[in-house]
Amino acid sequence: MKLFTKSEDSVTKCKKCGLELHDAERLKRHEKIAHARRIDVKCRNCGTEFRDPDDLRKHKKKCR
Ligand SMILES: [Zn+2]
Ligand SMILES: [Zn+2]
Repeated sequence: MKLFTKSEDSVTKCKKCGLELHDAERLKRHEKIAHARRIDVKCRNCGTEFRDPDDLRKHKKKCR
C-alpha cells in the first residue's frame, strides 16, 4: 500500500544539481547560494572547474 504524497506536484527540482525543494522561493535562494554566477573558479594548470573557491584552493595545492 502506498500512501499519497502530499502535494507532490509542488516539488521544485533544481535543474543544476537535482536537489528537490518544496518551495520555489527556497529553490531561488538555493540557486543563488549554490550556483552563483561565480563559477569562474577554474584551475589555471589543468582547467578543472570548481563551484566552491575553497575546493579550488585545496586543488591548487595538489595540482602543481
Ligand atoms: Zn542546485
Ligand atoms: Zn589543476
